Amino acid sequence: MKVAGLPKKRLGQTFLKEPSLAVKIVHAADISGEDTVVEIGAGAGILTREIAKRAGRVVALEIDPVLVDGLERAWAGDPRVLIVRQDVLKYDFRAPFRERGDERRLKIVGNVPYYITTPIFFRLLAFREVVETAVLMVQKEVALRLTAQPGTKDYGIPTVIGAVFSGIKILFTVPPSCFYPRPKVESAVIRVDFNVPTPAARDEALFAAVVRKAFSRRRKTVWNNLRDFGGGVYREEEIRKALAESGIDISARAETVSPPRFVTLANILSERMVGND
Ligand code: SAM
Repeated sequence: MKVAGLPKKRLGQTFLKEPSLAVKIVHAADISGEDTVVEIGAGAGILTREIAKRAGRVVALEIDPVLVDGLERAWAGDPRVLIVRQDVLKYDFRAPFRERGDERRLKIVGNVPYYITTPIFFRLLAFREVVETAVLMVQKEVALRLTAQPGTKDYGIPTVIGAVFSGIKILFTVPPSCFYPRPKVESAVIRVDFNVPTPAARDEALFAAVVRKAFSRRRKTVWNNLRDFGGGVYREEEIRKALAESGIDISARAETVSPPRFVTLANILSERMVGND
């Protein structure tokens, strides 16, 4: 399928040029005939074609009506391929899961629109109950952030939250020359596995809030960022004690604190509300 009109920059449209690269990406997703695959940002369908060769069912999400028209025409005769015109950030990933009525979770594939890579990642985490794996083309810089080690500049909120709820691997990098139009940045294909055993955060929303607040001012210590956490729900002293019990030094910055320590801290805080002691 040819792309009609000029690529729309505001929609992050950088199309893959090489069918062999599409094969490599889809191969990494380990798709079988029993799988339902949701593709994020199907574009002109270069990945859709490869996914449809292997999957039992494909749900191709695309927001651009011109591209949706083309995809619908291309797949009109194939009931296994459903084209859905929707914003991925509003898409309910439970929809295909519910309709199908079995227990097998979804696989996700996408050369994602780069302007919303991190929100897409968080949305998939939010639906991880129904998602098994995701193979995604992202900016290399984001891939490095998601897989960073504590104590490095790339280590941040998505790293910690991602590490607690999934396992992330960089599979290979991709140069700008593989896309039309050429993006300004290098890209990487990552595989996100939502099946990994993770340290249990008792209250996931509280855990995410603790991590976000701890990183809110990167130059400050975790203690300084968190001392008013909860807006009065916790006493300052309780927070200081919770840090000590989680093994987080009073002078530590968030970028040096490992994901399991953040989980311990959030779990202690979830038990220690004012009046609970
Ligand atoms: N899959 C195609 C390929 O590899 O050539 C296109 C990839 S392109 C990087 C990203 C695609 O996502 C574009 O087709 C764009 O229109 C679409 N897109 C952008 N924002 C979207 C959104 N919020 N929801 C769904 N699709 C979106």
